[in-house]
Amino acid sequence: MPVEIAVVGAGTMGAGIAQLALEHGHPVRLIDLDPAATARAGALIAERLTRRFSQQGLIGPELADRRAGTLERLVLGADPEEAADASIVIEAVIESLEVKQALFARLAAATSPDALLATNTSALSVRAIATAASRPERVLGLHFFNPAPVMALVEIVSGPLTDPAVAERGAALVTGWGRTPIRCADRPGFAVNRVNRPFTIQALRLLESGAADISTIDGAVRAAGFPMGPFELMDLVGIDVNLATATAVWEGFGRAARFSPSPIQAELEAAGRLGRKTGRGFYRYDPSGTNLGPAPGFDRAVPGGRTPPGPESIVARIRLAIVSEAYRALEEGVAADEATIDLALRLGAAHPEGPFAWAHSRGLSRVGAELDAPATAEPDAFSGA
Ligand code: NAD
Repeated sequence: MPVEIAVVGAGTMGAGIAQLALEHGHPVRLIDLDPAATARAGALIAERLTRRFSQQGLIGPELADRRAGTLERLVLGADPEEAADASIVIEAVIESLEVKQALFARLAAATSPDALLATNTSALSVRAIATAASRPERVLGLHFFNPAPVMALVEIVSGPLTDPAVAERGAALVTGWGRTPIRCADRPGFAVNRVNRPFTIQALRLLESGAADISTIDGAVRAAGFPMGPFELMDLVGIDVNLATATAVWEGFGRAARFSPSPIQAELEAAGRLGRKTGRGFYRYDPSGTNLGPAPGFDRAVPGGRTPPGPESIVARIRLAIVSEAYRALEEGVAADEATIDLALRLGAAHPEGPFAWAHSRGLSRVGAELDAPATAEPDAFSGA
């Protein structure tokens, strides 16, 4: 029988991770201080399992049996101490260092000394979380992507205190769940959320400067093979969620100017325009989720009197900033090599090709010259590919 898994935090990520563990035969404790959250997660998991089993061709009593047999292994709870018998605990509570530290202190006290304690934090320091736990060498980051039952990538984050054997166990666990693990150092945003930050930041800078409107930017990015444009992505993820990650990475890098979040996002958040979930963000959506086009204020570029950049120039600007960040991450040892970062961006952010592969195919000397050009800061500086 697979080992018992406890998932603490039954929101978007916790529900997805618990489902994944159930699908792979584990007994699962899903714990949240809010009973409404666990109840919602339980119902959601039941619904998703039904869909998944019917996609696998199960029908009628066979489907009902399989579903009941799977859900039998799910126990809902409210206190971290209920994780006591779990061999592996995965924390997915709100992105707050204070909350996570308090929780890890309790989890470390409640569980057996060799239980593995993982955090699903997007951008907080694994080391800072681990210091709150007794035996911090068993704490690591297991960073799943949303939706967890679908996304193939998991970043395995070792802090300076993490025992290498613990990282091995984490990687083996998620490999057994059909995921692809990549090893990351404990730097803000790890690999994907850090290297891909310019995807939205550069798009927002283009918008702020009046160089191009959201439909033009999204259309150019989609035409280059990305499944959606940066503004469509922010609306899907939630303006508030994207801003929180952007802010955490910016703070994590000492408020470096290149990561500074756009005031446009803060304005949208303050206005309650959070994207698809509120029916309005950069775009407007009808109740069925159909995109009705740019929201007022985003339907045209701010007139700036400059020649608007062409689609290839827009995409090049975004990709060059990503390449630049990828090189910095590599230099800092965030991941082992170019291939790992490329894989991370393809699996974790759905890039058609990784930044290094793109840079090599464009030509490193050309990319180097473009990155060095003082005009790189100008949205309309690129002549296109
Ligand atoms: P969420 O807001 O959907 O859920 C968080 C849950 O944690 C809530 O149900 C809340 O009641 C619960 N909670 C808060 N404090 C708690 C405590 N002390 N004990 C038990 N439960 C507690 O959040 P989410 O989007 O699922 O994110 C969870 C974590 O995963 C965050 O660290 C986030 O950065 C990270 N993450 C999120 C995504 C994403 O796309 N949403 C992707 C990867 C990682």
